[in-house]
Amino acid sequence: MSIVNAKEIMVEAAKGKYAVGAFNITDLIQLEGVVDAAVEKKAPLIIQTSVKPSKFLGTDVLVAIYRTIASSAPIPICLHLDHCTEVDYCNKCADAGYTNIMIDASKQGFEENIRQTKIVVDHAHSVGNISVEGELGTVSGVEDQIKVAEDEAALANPMQSVEFVERTGLDIFAPAIGTAHGVYKTKNPKVDFERLGQINKLLNGGGIKTPLVVHGGTGLPEDYIQKLIEMGGAKFNVSTELKRVLIDAKYEYITAHREEYDPGKVDVAVRDAIRKAVGHWIDMLGSAGKA
Ligand SMILES: [Zn+2]
Repeated sequence: MSIVNAKEIMVEAAKGKYAVGAFNITDLIQLEGVVDAAVEKKAPLIIQTSVKPSKFLGTDVLVAIYRTIASSAPIPICLHLDHCTEVDYCNKCADAGYTNIMIDASKQGFEENIRQTKIVVDHAHSVGNISVEGELGTVSGVEDQIKVAEDEAALANPMQSVEFVERTGLDIFAPAIGTAHGVYKTKNPKVDFERLGQINKLLNGGGIKTPLVVHGGTGLPEDYIQKLIEMGGAKFNVSTELKRVLIDAKYEYITAHREEYDPGKVDVAVRDAIRKAVGHWIDMLGSAGKA
C-alpha cells in the first residue's frame, strides 16, 4: 500500500532518527520530479501543496493524480495540505482524499486555535486514514496565506504545546522554534533547538505519539538539520527552494534554446532539476533506503 498518512511514516522516522521530506509542488512536472527522486532513493515521501495551487489546479484533480501515482509507486507517499487557515477547505481536502491536513490557526488566540484545530482533527479522523498537523506559535516569513513580520514571531511554549496536542487530539505537531519561511537572511539563523528537544521529550518521551514537524527547511545549514533531527524533527517542509529550482530550470533552458519550441524538453529539464534538488534533501534527512 503506497497511499499513507504523514503520521505513520513519521513515527518510523522518529524511531529511526531520520526525517521525511515534505516537498512543495505547484504543478504536475514538479510532482513527477519529486516522486522520481524519492523512488530513486527508496525514501518515504510527503508531497505538499499550499492552498493556492490546490484551489487553482482543483482539489479533485490533484488527488486523482496523487492517487494514480502513489498507488503504483514502490514507496509510501502522503499528500499533505500545507498551512490552510480555512476549516472548511481543510475538511473539503480530507473528503477529497488528501492524507494529511495542516490546519494553521496559529494566528488565532490559544483557545480559538484549539477550537478550529479540533474541528479538523475530528472530521479527518471520521473520514478515514488521515492525519492532521497543527501549529502553535508563529513561523516567521512569507507564507502563501499569511504574512508575519519576524518581530511578531512567537515561539511555542512547551507546556502549552502539550495542552494543545492533548485537547485537539492532533496527530503531528509543528511548534514554532525560530525557523522561517522564504530565504534566511543570515548564515546562522536563530533556531531554538533546545525548545524542540524539550517539546519532544514532553510529547514523545514515553514512546512516539505525536511526531514533530520543522517548517522553513529551505536554506537551513546542514548541521542545523542534523541537530533538529536529533531533537525530534521527523518531517521537514521544503517549499521556497523548489519554487526557485522550477523557475531557474525553466529560465535557463529557454534562454539556452530560445529558437526551439518543444515544451516537452522544458519539462524534462525542470523534472530533472527537481529530482536532483529533492535527492539532495533526502540524503540530508537520512531517509534514503527507508521506504
Ligand atoms: Zn510552513
